Amino acid sequence: MDDMATLHYSSFYICSALLCISCLCYTLIQGRVTRRQNQVYILLLLTMLFCALSSIVFVFFDGRYTAEAHFISDTARFVSYVFHDALSPMFAYYVLLVCGNAWRISRSSLILCATPFLLSEIVILMNPLTDWVYYYDDAFQYCRNWGAYMIYAVAFFYMLIGLFNLFRYWYAITDAKRYALVFFIALVAVGIFIQILWLDVQIELFMDALAALGLMLSIENEDNRLDMATGTYNRRALIFDLKNFIATNQVFQVIGLRMTDMPSVHRVMGAAAAEAFLRAVADYLRTILPPYCIYYANMSTYIILIHGDDERHATEIAAQILDRFDAQWTGDKLETRLNATVTRGALPKDFPTSDDVLFMADSPIPAKDGKKVLSGRDLSYLLRRLEVERALHRGLDGNLFEVYYQPILESPSLRIKSAEALLRLRDPVLGSVPPAEFIPIAERTGLIDALGDYVLEEVCMFLAAGIPDELYLTGISVNLSTLQCVQPGFARRVKSIVSRFGVEPSKINFEITESVAPDDYDALDAVIRDLKSAGFTFAMGDYGVGYSNLQSVFALDFDMIKIDKNILWSAEKGNVGRAILDNSVRMIREMNRKILVEGVETEEQLRTLTRLSVDYLQGFYFSKPLPKEDFVALARSQQKTTQSILVRRA
Ligand code: C2E
Ligand code: MG
Repeated sequence: MDDMATLHYSSFYICSALLCISCLCYTLIQGRVTRRQNQVYILLLLTMLFCALSSIVFVFFDGRYTAEAHFISDTARFVSYVFHDALSPMFAYYVLLVCGNAWRISRSSLILCATPFLLSEIVILMNPLTDWVYYYDDAFQYCRNWGAYMIYAVAFFYMLIGLFNLFRYWYAITDAKRYALVFFIALVAVGIFIQILWLDVQIELFMDALAALGLMLSIENEDNRLDMATGTYNRRALIFDLKNFIATNQVFQVIGLRMTDMPSVHRVMGAAAAEAFLRAVADYLRTILPPYCIYYANMSTYIILIHGDDERHATEIAAQILDRFDAQWTGDKLETRLNATVTRGALPKDFPTSDDVLFMADSPIPAKDGKKVLSGRDLSYLLRRLEVERALHRGLDGNLFEVYYQPILESPSLRIKSAEALLRLRDPVLGSVPPAEFIPIAERTGLIDALGDYVLEEVCMFLAAGIPDELYLTGISVNLSTLQCVQPGFARRVKSIVSRFGVEPSKINFEITESVAPDDYDALDAVIRDLKSAGFTFAMGDYGVGYSNLQSVFALDFDMIKIDKNILWSAEKGNVGRAILDNSVRMIREMNRKILVEGVETEEQLRTLTRLSVDYLQGFYFSKPLPKEDFVALARSQQKTTQSILVRRA
């Protein structure tokens, strides 16, 4: 063969080698080397690369008609066969790893599955003596023997194993991954097919390398699973992996690390500082655990998932983490000490569903006599969630919910101007369940939409009956969580309920009760604009707690900001608290928003707020939330005396 013909003949191999080298470099630069899946992928690339290089050598020396050239070409072809044969079993194993199912294969089934591969390798290794796979005819022409077809059959066998596992665990992996795998298996199969039919078209390895490139871009690429700020896996990855582990019956030790004072750090030191401390904690966790076990669940919580049933190991890790919290954390040149509580249990024993783990991550951790590690019976509070969920269903079916109204007073006249609608559940089994407990569960289970409709309908009924107008109330506030608002069709549904009752939208003020997650921001903004153009007004609740960031508070078009009761209460405790309250009021006023302060319980607090000239007040000092009839009676009695309810009470 002349040089041009050689180049032409080996071009597929050269391209394959270049593709493999590029994939290898990129994978190593990205540091995707820690998981077994990554390692098998790298091994696949290396095997393909050897295969491509040896094939280039044999093509180069093929047909040069000297004894040395023939020896080199024959050896290279032999090496290429040895490596190529390993590709399909490796790929089948890789599919198993991607499906998260490799762990369940016992050693004996592994040996059984590897038998066809071992046999074909033996046949290849014997070839120099037996010519079972290939030989050269009298004219030194390469000819395939039965062994070559056996090798193809073995390759198909492993393709089928890969496909079988893929379909078996179809729902345990993401859409993107499963379609990527099907596509790449098809690509490899087409390559094998073409090569069986046309010996001269050396395309099979090239198809394999193309598939490997695709795997790198789709399956090995974890960008959408990573939390950019901390470098750990994000919440989406956590949800997905939990579902996968449960679907494939895997046993895991779950450690929930809650940094209990992270909300205060966020509030006092700012979002950037909180993020820096979170990063410092993540960096530490990576020194004691492989990076793929660590998930960022929310601003205060990391979840750690350790494969297997070794509870002792998990207990040791939990203790080690807690010990570290005795020392300071440094983030962006700031130093602070953080408090932490650890919840530890096993999946699926203590956490049968992925929702249980998420609930553990998101819900308040009950105080257990200052205990820092909660496990076993301490986790029984998670069971309460199921009971509350049942109570929610009972409540909706049996009409056990009631809307209470808490007066909102104008300052400084202290006359009732409106009321906040607050949901109550009186369950025959659990008794009275507070909304702070059932609302988050209703949000998780999707029941929040039905509850939201119920509250809005009750409020509309109240407004339509005309009593609030009679009492000169400006309207009623209805609580909404961000999750409710961002549901598709939410604004349309609200408008249709309100128009069904013939209520003027301006009589309804929506109070958004949760901090705004960046992901929801645009959707929320659109809903607020839409409903405001229809006449509704909006208030931001919980100002000053949680993670509501100032930018979103003021960028969203709220008419009123409601300062959380904790801000008011901590103003009494010291200068820092006082400064936070004063500054909050000043800032909100500068942004031209009305100010409501909730949680007024004492005369002293009332005096403070009167001095600060806030617009509205709400709190137990004036009235607790009341059933509708009691609220109407209270507002009526105020109207008769034309005096504030305080004067009347005195
Ligand atoms: P929120 O919107 O911050 O409502 C104010 C809560 O503070 C009410 O608790 C109210 O009873 C309480 N509160 C008002 N003044 C005082 C006071 O002076 N001292 C004390 N200690 N507490 C005071 P409640 O009714 O238990 O509601 C808790 C939370 O549940 C509400 O917080 C709101 O986030 C949520 N919620 C209640 N009803 C609904 C609803 O219909 N929909 C939605 N999405 N959430 C609701
Ligand atoms: Mg509220």
